[in-house]
Amino acid sequence: MTKNNLRDEFPKNIKETLAKRVSYFCSNPKCRKMTIGPHTDANKSVSVGVAAHISAASPGGPRYDATLTSSDRKSIKNGIWLCQNCGREVDIDEIRFTKSILEAWKREAESLVVKKTIEEKYKSSKKVISKIQDIEEMYEYFNEYYIANFDHFFSFNDAMVSLRKHYYLHSPIMTQINTLNELISKVLEEFRKIKLDINPKTSKLIKKYLDTLKFTYEDDGIGFYNNRLERFFENMIDTKITRIQIIKELSNCI
Ligand SMILES: [Zn+2]
Repeated sequence: MTKNNLRDEFPKNIKETLAKRVSYFCSNPKCRKMTIGPHTDANKSVSVGVAAHISAASPGGPRYDATLTSSDRKSIKNGIWLCQNCGREVDIDEIRFTKSILEAWKREAESLVVKKTIEEKYKSSKKVISKIQDIEEMYEYFNEYYIANFDHFFSFNDAMVSLRKHYYLHSPIMTQINTLNELISKVLEEFRKIKLDINPKTSKLIKKYLDTLKFTYEDDGIGFYNNRLERFFENMIDTKITRIQIIKELSNCI
């Protein structure tokens, strides 16, 4: 029988899970070394991490606990992810590195990863949300434009009849609508890239907001500009309340 048969080694999946639960950082709070990185061979990675036993894998080892069963000793509960140096250090000095110290390291290292993940998600959400605020400011401008030019009409239809008649007067605003569309496309692109890094509730609200902004316009070859302006104002008025509600919800959940 070889030495390894006597040791309660961790199965491969448990080693991997231990590493992933701390994002491959050493769990020693004074070390926190990254235990994985690129190999010079582009197809490989280098690992300097170990799944260390809190209670030793075999009798006589550090912190060996005879009351544990073999499966307890191989379980994830008995493991801690460390770099090779710290792995060696904690096994040499079992008086200093007690079971409760190692368990405290493990808890702290895992909660640090959770905290970092939340912070990252918060940052990603903030990035998209600040762009959404830019969009809202532009909508505010269009809203004021609409009020100044069309609000005195009895109905939206009447306002649009006037728009069609004098659309050349309003054509400069098309440039700004194009700028808005570009901004919306940019936000969509950014959102697609980071949507998995945003918490699901915020992500759902952002998607709902961007979907709300979508508006179509037909190019009939004659009245392209005024069609587009009409559709734009119609969409703006239709979506105003929904947009404001989403923005409110978004700011509540951030
Ligand atoms: Zn270390």
